[in-house]
Amino acid sequence: MPFGEACGVVGIYSHKQVSYDIFTALRVLQHRGQESAGISVFNDGIHTYKDMGLVTDVFKPKTLEKMRGNIGIGHVRYSTEGASVQKNAQPIEISTTIGQLALGHNGELVNANELREKYKEKGWAFFSNTDSEIIIRVLAKELHEGRDPVSAIKNTMYEISGSYSLVLLINNRLFGIRDPLGIKPLAIGKKSGKYIIASESVVFDALDVDMVRDVSPGEIVEIGENGINSYRVPTPEHTAHCFFEWVYFARSDSVMDGVLAYDVRKKIGNILSREHPVEADLVVPVPDSGRSYAIGYCEASGIKYGEGLIKNRYVERTFIMPEQVMREYNVSVKLNPVKSMVEGKRIVLVDDSIVRGTTMGKIVSILRKAGAKQVHVRIGCPMIIAPCYLGIDMKTRGQLIASNKSVEGIRETIGADSLGYLSIDGLIEAMGKDRKDLCLGCITGEYPVKIRGEKMRGQESLDRYLV
Ligand code: SF4
Repeated sequence: MPFGEACGVVGIYSHKQVSYDIFTALRVLQHRGQESAGISVFNDGIHTYKDMGLVTDVFKPKTLEKMRGNIGIGHVRYSTEGASVQKNAQPIEISTTIGQLALGHNGELVNANELREKYKEKGWAFFSNTDSEIIIRVLAKELHEGRDPVSAIKNTMYEISGSYSLVLLINNRLFGIRDPLGIKPLAIGKKSGKYIIASESVVFDALDVDMVRDVSPGEIVEIGENGINSYRVPTPEHTAHCFFEWVYFARSDSVMDGVLAYDVRKKIGNILSREHPVEADLVVPVPDSGRSYAIGYCEASGIKYGEGLIKNRYVERTFIMPEQVMREYNVSVKLNPVKSMVEGKRIVLVDDSIVRGTTMGKIVSILRKAGAKQVHVRIGCPMIIAPCYLGIDMKTRGQLIASNKSVEGIRETIGADSLGYLSIDGLIEAMGKDRKDLCLGCITGEYPVKIRGEKMRGQESLDRYLV
């Protein structure tokens, strides 16, 4: 699925040096962003090291060794707001009248331009074009005006709108913050005096700590010597968790807001088979993204499972490549058919989603060239008809094949014998959550926050809650 995620964040407090643990956490979160990586630690002042590239390219043992300090944050980035350049890498570190701040942000503000213009009018100069810089600058202003950190964070939250899961150092104090709608995930883990805030629970597994809980929507947590301290801003009646985290972005083994992504994906496979049955010989997943769905499809349909496509493990995920030409080139480098398995067979090809349609078209043709008799495509995500303004890299309807083509039109474009998408009701059933608690913006065209020119879902504006 050719598509970009926003970012992964982690914050750690421990009795030991945290740089190695943050490095490990970032490697675990690498699927959330591959353009840049960075770590900030506090050791008599905040020290930040960041660069473009994969976590293992950016951090060498010597660098990590030098980053002493028992409190710190880390970030991996895929650019959604702001170009893919070094100055936009995170954490962002700034120096203020009350000391130093460092911030890692996963998400996207919908009022970033408005705020940037507002503060430019007041004479502020910006050093990057990211929305994350706006957050840290507004926060610095609040602190400069004499507010304590928690009040300053709250006031910043009242000013910004959109999706944000943040890790933040204010000198030697570590905070985790989740937006009032809980759009992006953020969770807390703990073991013997070590506390971790991270985008996904898989980080806790890798670092052998226990998951404590999710950070609640609208919650500010401070972790340190005294454990977890929690503060809240008022929140609307319903959350707006991004359903795409479960359907695609998060790792299958991540638990977010009480639900394991793998369970949702397998259930979607069951429902897909019920909604779009077909006579076939073999269910083939697009590796690795379609695997859990394919297992669910086989379970419900009784059709045999087969790894008819083999993935070259040494090629990065295609969707994360920002350039379309790179993405197309990469499909054939990345996937190779097992000819003896697919030859002469009626194949059900299962994947998580179709965005532009180019990748799927290429995969269908790879299977046909390998001798598949029929290729029936089944997709675990309902049709993506509208852009995401909340942290996912799809900004215009022109990029989305489903926004201007029917199912039949898409089937024809990708060259499949049949095509079936999961329904929105099927998605809600698989997630086991109240529809009103999910962001479904990209599949319904109705968003949980005000976005100029777009419809807002039936929920009162957050403005009502501002104090
Ligand atoms: S619009 Fe779609 S991808 Fe974006 S936050 Fe909402 S559900 Fe997630």
